[in-house]
Amino acid sequence: MGRLVMKFGGTSVADLDRIRNVARHVEREVKAGHQVAVVVSAMAGATDRLVGWCREAAPVHDAREYDAVVASGEQVTAGLLAIVLQDTGIPARSWQGWQIAVRTDGVHGAARIVEIDGSELKKRLDQGQVAVMAGFQGIGPDKRITTLGRGGSDTSAVALAAALEARCDIYTDVDGVYTADPRIVTKARKLDRISYEEMLEQASLGAKVLQTRSVELAMVYKVPLQVRSSFESPDSENQNRPDGTGPGTLVCEEDKIVEQHVVSGIAYSRDEAKVSIRKVKDQPGISAAIFGPLAEADISVDMIVQNVSADGDTANITFTVSRKDLRKALEVLSEVKDKIGFSEFTHSADVAKVSVVGIGMRSHAGVAAKMFKSLADRGINIQAITTSEIKISVLIDEAYTELAVRALHQAYGLEAAA
Ligand code: ADP
Ligand code: ASP
Ligand code: MG
Repeated sequence: MGRLVMKFGGTSVADLDRIRNVARHVEREVKAGHQVAVVVSAMAGATDRLVGWCREAAPVHDAREYDAVVASGEQVTAGLLAIVLQDTGIPARSWQGWQIAVRTDGVHGAARIVEIDGSELKKRLDQGQVAVMAGFQGIGPDKRITTLGRGGSDTSAVALAAALEARCDIYTDVDGVYTADPRIVTKARKLDRISYEEMLEQASLGAKVLQTRSVELAMVYKVPLQVRSSFESPDSENQNRPDGTGPGTLVCEEDKIVEQHVVSGIAYSRDEAKVSIRKVKDQPGISAAIFGPLAEADISVDMIVQNVSADGDTANITFTVSRKDLRKALEVLSEVKDKIGFSEFTHSADVAKVSVVGIGMRSHAGVAAKMFKSLADRGINIQAITTSEIKISVLIDEAYTELAVRALHQAYGLEAAA
């Protein structure tokens, strides 16, 4: 039956009852003959609480100690699940990142996995033991605990699956990937399949059902990836299809998708902030002079709009950064202001990015026009636009986020049949 990595997110392990439920899902797969490695998140709310304590202890703190604190949530659930599995008669043990080891780079708080040594786990799996790995954490070159950024247990799971040459099932609180966040679009439709590329765009544009890095890894290492619900009964007949896939959404190669849509989903992100610089000299080298120092300060700039200002000699430049980087971006601009010579800059964090995603866009005209018209019909002003081959994103007033997502969902005919 092969090796299987099963990942359970925070709401799926929120308390002991939920952990017992997880154990039943694991038991089902073990009984079906799989070698199982489980990756768990911290209990719902636990990581937020730990992050809050760090901030309360000191607003500016050592990132290495932050990691030591926030990685602890996963340690608890890994141990508890191993205890419950053992109690059910299933041989199991917990593993922390450093014990395996999950080696990462040294960027504390947002580390990237460099390598996972799967040899010891493979031996244990061959002997019939279930491995329960604490997600979200690894060990850096400085031999200290690192964490992978919020939502990072998805990435732990996919990376482990790649190391074990396993397939990977991500169990969460929804039964798959939808055409939009089901929490805000009640008529969103579950997709049977979605391509790695579209899922990657969705995730990076805000659909937090999978961490972006996890999709990247799945795509590179061709890990068969599935998103499914831990809330469906572990014993229901619906759990496994004859082709070996579950009842959720399969994230797979594009050519495995039979039913193609021009647009497969709408994503949104409130993690945006806008900076506008007014009256910059309109001459070669100015953009480099502004964006160079931002890049040096490790600030990623997303959307950029430049237009000539009323006097005809100067330009106005607007760009977006992630909200957490806003303060730093403003500091950098203050430092370079006199050297570059612009009159003023303003900023706003009351903006959101709404995106339509679909591989069908490559061969269909009119997708952008439909988006702009649909937003205009609702009186929603577009402040910036970016596009790629398979997505169009617009920046709008944050207050209209939900209205925009619902309007676009309807405009592209993504709603579930009544
Ligand atoms: P977990 O704790 O299991 O990792 P997350 O909260 O990180 O779960 O991710 C699941 C959530 O992602 C869902 O509850 C849903 O609100 C949200 N979500 C956002 N966009 C989508 C989408 N397109 N399809 C499914 N879920 C989505
Ligand atoms: N517990 C971590 C978080 O809340 C990692 C995860 O759940 O994926 O971000
Ligand atoms: Mg998550």
